Amino acid sequence: MTSKLPQMVEPFSQSLKSRGLSLTRLKSTVLQINVGLLCNLACRHCHLEAGPARQEIMSADTVSQVVELSKRFSFGVIDVTGGAPEMNPHILDLLGGLSGRGARVMLRSNLTAMDGPGREQLIDLCLDKKVVIVASFPALNETQAESQRGKGIFLKSIEVLQRLNGLGYGKTGSGLELNLVSNPAGAFIPNNQSQLEDRFRQILMNKWGIEFNQLFSFANVPLGRFKKWLVASGNYVSYMEKLAHSQNPCALDGVMCRSLISVGWDGYLYDCDFNQAIGLGLGGQQIHISELEELPVPGLEIAVSDHCYACTAGSGFT
Ligand code: SF4
Repeated sequence: MTSKLPQMVEPFSQSLKSRGLSLTRLKSTVLQINVGLLCNLACRHCHLEAGPARQEIMSADTVSQVVELSKRFSFGVIDVTGGAPEMNPHILDLLGGLSGRGARVMLRSNLTAMDGPGREQLIDLCLDKKVVIVASFPALNETQAESQRGKGIFLKSIEVLQRLNGLGYGKTGSGLELNLVSNPAGAFIPNNQSQLEDRFRQILMNKWGIEFNQLFSFANVPLGRFKKWLVASGNYVSYMEKLAHSQNPCALDGVMCRSLISVGWDGYLYDCDFNQAIGLGLGGQQIHISELEELPVPGLEIAVSDHCYACTAGSGFT
């Protein structure tokens, strides 16, 4: 078993150079905030190795700094993620502070963390502020979904989707957007996204009466728990080769790091959530939110590593 990059695969930075390409910033229009690694689940594909035992949580001070940052600069999209963001005790202050200034505020959810006591206020706030819910829903197959996420998770997720639909989420004309994210259970690249979306729409409606706005489908990023699983199952080499051989240079133009800054739970800044997973700071530097005077300027180099292959394989990861 090995986790070294297979000989057949050039390091990602080298592959850019040899094609005369580089990965540089455009205007930063998206603010992504990771509020911590605490989660009620410990999914097999989690690149951050989030789970119930993780203690890393964004503090009230850092939440205030993030809200301040969102006021100082104008972002088109603000994307709140985790762990399970619902489990951060300051989530209401954060979402309340970020909303109302024209940005499209999105909350990532594994759905099951939205259930249970104390979540009513959060759901009310999401309804009131029209927060977009982006729900991970890995697969339509119960066994497959539960092999990634744990027993009992599938039907609980269905229940929460039905509840969100009942409140108007995912319904045409409600202004309440509900998007799903699916990802493969194993070491393969997802199928055509629009075909998959049609299939999810048909089956979720026919079997459970569930509606949603859009489905996004992404390759799993070879980091964290997913990388450990790839190595342990002997799939790492073939997966990296598959990603490298499915390179789509067009996907490079649309990768999210070109227009996004990612704030970690402790306030440090990154080009994306995946770089955050390996501590690779913004443009390769260690910069804290308290030190950020201006947004990174267009043309600035983005810090890359070999996991970037997952973003540019097939239809990409935007
Ligand atoms: S992993 Fe991050 S830095 Fe690399 S291409 Fe994807 S978004 Fe950009």
